[in-house]
Amino acid sequence: MSNSPSRVNLLDFDPAALEAFFVNMGEKPFRARQVLPWLHQRFCDDIGQMSDLSKAAREKLAAVAEIKPPRVLRDATANDGARKWLFAVENDTGAENAVEAVYLPEDDRGTLCISTQAGCMMDCAFCSTGRQGFNRNLSTGEIVGQLWVANRTLLAEGMNAPWIEAGRPPITNVVLMGMGEPLANFKNVVAALQLFLSDHAYGLSRRRVTLSTSGVTPMIDALRDACPVALAVSLHAPDDTLRDRLMPINRRHPLPELMAACRRYLDQAPRDFITFEYLLLADVNDAPAQAAALIELVRDVPCKFNLIPFNSFPDAPYQAPMRNRVLAFQRVLMDAGIITTIRKARGEDIDAACGQLAGQVHNRVRYRMSDVPRRAERYDDAREVAALSAPGERRRSSFQAKHPVA
Ligand code: SF4
Repeated sequence: MSNSPSRVNLLDFDPAALEAFFVNMGEKPFRARQVLPWLHQRFCDDIGQMSDLSKAAREKLAAVAEIKPPRVLRDATANDGARKWLFAVENDTGAENAVEAVYLPEDDRGTLCISTQAGCMMDCAFCSTGRQGFNRNLSTGEIVGQLWVANRTLLAEGMNAPWIEAGRPPITNVVLMGMGEPLANFKNVVAALQLFLSDHAYGLSRRRVTLSTSGVTPMIDALRDACPVALAVSLHAPDDTLRDRLMPINRRHPLPELMAACRRYLDQAPRDFITFEYLLLADVNDAPAQAAALIELVRDVPCKFNLIPFNSFPDAPYQAPMRNRVLAFQRVLMDAGIITTIRKARGEDIDAACGQLAGQVHNRVRYRMSDVPRRAERYDDAREVAALSAPGERRRSSFQAKHPVA
């Protein structure tokens, strides 16, 4: 596998972009449909092996392109079967950052939780990743590469499952719920989603791909229009006062705006409900009265709730809730007819549990949401957010210009 910086990474191309790439090379667009299965179904890392391309076509392609998944730094499996890959991604100074993907095997599926940014700018008060600040957006190849590595590794190890015998890859479900805010890296994330859904690549149904957002509302609309997949929203509070404190994004896009965006998303969503993730923090947001307030908040939004008892990490400012408080909170929601699950903690012995991603990794910090003054400073419109998410770049925007990072 070559690492020449002058070659393009074929994992960076969604199906339409790969067609355009071949046309630019003077080749027919159908070459994309030949090459995509080599990349994303056979997990091939050597252009020379693509035997349905002529030798001349392979040599022409290999002169300008390579297949470069992110490099695995660490690979650890927990006692409960959860597995975490730690990947190295270089920033524009050549220094390395680390991002993670977590594999959660179950009897009827294999789920991979992937990262979309190195670090995260959202600075949620309870989050280990948010504490590290933001470094950069991942490229499409770095996002897709996590799935590529997981599938390739599990196949090479001889993983056995009914769906593999039926010709499907080991990973059946993808959740964009790892490090980073996916909607702040919109262009690269949508390109990755196109590959997850393409029959020439991973062939996943929209219902098996879930994007989780902290609530960047203009981009929820943009996702609905560009590539609607199942949507999860991190809620974590029933009112703006508490959510402002826990999640700085709420100061820009408060709850009424978020609920309206959720209702609009349901017009195109592959599932007829939104999943609300609700992290339970002891004596902060776990009171029965707060569950009752949630019922009012989501009254017009068909939804399910997923309660996540807080996983503590070193120097965490919050405590895990008591089990009886978790069950009481669930009961209030269930009694109102809202399906409410409690997420089982997995992978705790390898720091793979929710909110612990990259807990032992120190990324270089460039930017935090809390650098923003408390006054309401809102994204001008979706285009500004999109401008924050050009491929693999250091972010340049009026927002950044006002808040330069050392
Ligand atoms: S909870 Fe999600 S959005 Fe918030 S800081 Fe952590 S990774 Fe970012």
